[in-house]
Amino acid sequence: MMGSQQPQKELFSYQIDLDRRVRSDHPLRRIREVIDFGFVRAEVAACYGANGNESVDPAVILKMMFLLFFENVASERELMRIIPERLDYLWFLDYGLEASIPDHSVLSKARARWGHEAFEKFFVRTVGQCVAAGLVDGGKIHVDSSLNEANASCDSVVKASPELIAALKTAYQATASKLADASTPASYEAVNDRVVSTTDPDAAVVRKGAQPSRPRYHHHRAVDEAHGVITAVETTPGSIAENKRLLPLVRQHETNTGQSPQTVVGDHKYGTVENFVACQQQGLRTHLGDARAKQHHARSEGIFPDSAFTYDARTNTYRCPAGQRMPPRRLHPTKRTWEYQLPKTVCAACALRAQCTRATAYGRTLHRHEHQELLDRARQQAHSAAARRDRQRRQHLAEVSFADAANHHGFKRARWRRLWRVQIQDWLIAAIQNVKILLKHRLPPVATAGAALSLTVPTGFTDR
Ligand code: SF4
Repeated sequence: MMGSQQPQKELFSYQIDLDRRVRSDHPLRRIREVIDFGFVRAEVAACYGANGNESVDPAVILKMMFLLFFENVASERELMRIIPERLDYLWFLDYGLEASIPDHSVLSKARARWGHEAFEKFFVRTVGQCVAAGLVDGGKIHVDSSLNEANASCDSVVKASPELIAALKTAYQATASKLADASTPASYEAVNDRVVSTTDPDAAVVRKGAQPSRPRYHHHRAVDEAHGVITAVETTPGSIAENKRLLPLVRQHETNTGQSPQTVVGDHKYGTVENFVACQQQGLRTHLGDARAKQHHARSEGIFPDSAFTYDARTNTYRCPAGQRMPPRRLHPTKRTWEYQLPKTVCAACALRAQCTRATAYGRTLHRHEHQELLDRARQQAHSAAARRDRQRRQHLAEVSFADAANHHGFKRARWRRLWRVQIQDWLIAAIQNVKILLKHRLPPVATAGAALSLTVPTGFTDR
């Protein structure tokens, strides 16, 4: 049975009113005035029966998890140990001085009972409050990602055949999961199917720069242009590249803010052909770094660049420097590029061959995307002065957002295991960062703080 916490003042035993002991500008006081933690009772009510022992109030549990990351407390055990020592924590949680603090296990049990939806809802509500407070531009988003350590050691990694690794993952899913969607989604294909961490099979064993391989998660987020409000968050195994989650982040931003972005800003890792074309098809201005500019092909050095060939849209052919017409040969099924090539005998007899190709068996080959016009437009936008300015601003917004999460809220290492729990951690940290932005920019002076209670979800905001 779901419990409900009543504020405990205990004026008679100690003559101490905690409400008066917590200073008027205490951050937790301001958070309590702005954030409605009570919404979670309705969210998780279906998870509790009508009879039996009364639970700890879900709002108190959510506040405890908030404190865990807001104060970056080392562990849930540690949090429960220090709550009785801290008057501000007791007041924030509506406990009195003599209240018995629940065992730390109530937090893990609540996560298993509620699932991840309640935490996602909490994050989305903070986005909605920022929108309502006028802190979200909505039209321009900056995307970035961070590869963080899973809560699993390198010693937990085992190597085996792909079949055995698949069987191990299935066994873990069957025994460890209480939630239907607790395991890695099928859409996240494993890059390396010969290794798995036995303590966290959802984490992918990947390298990070020059650091050795270990179990890791990839954290993706979209940050709004105006004040750095985090509008979209996704956690994946470390093997899922950032460029694969660009469009899902855009969609999540639209859902969470009720606004469609016009410009998306990211570094060269996001500037792939697929993303350029997809963004243009959706009417998004692509201020992404160009992944092609970072690639170096030694084989193409010293030979005619692609720009030396002239495309004729009327005949769908290229004219090569020797004046020959190169016809389309085949469409690559996944890259969606047409291949243009002359018969090898033509190139073999060409006087310019040494300057044109290093291929020995065939002549020169050119590639053209089936939506090349969109690709050209996207690259033009990516190389514009405005795009370069936006990418500089991205370093301030997105990277500062990750640095704040890492330095103050324990973002760099997963506290828990399995993808759905790590996603909860990310939602909580992102929600806390949004709350901090809300307090910094929009909270009226404490004397009139009651006005902040009237923050509502904006028109058009989709509350998931
Ligand atoms: S090698 Fe082939 S493609 Fe290149 S210039 Fe000569 S004929 Fe044209």
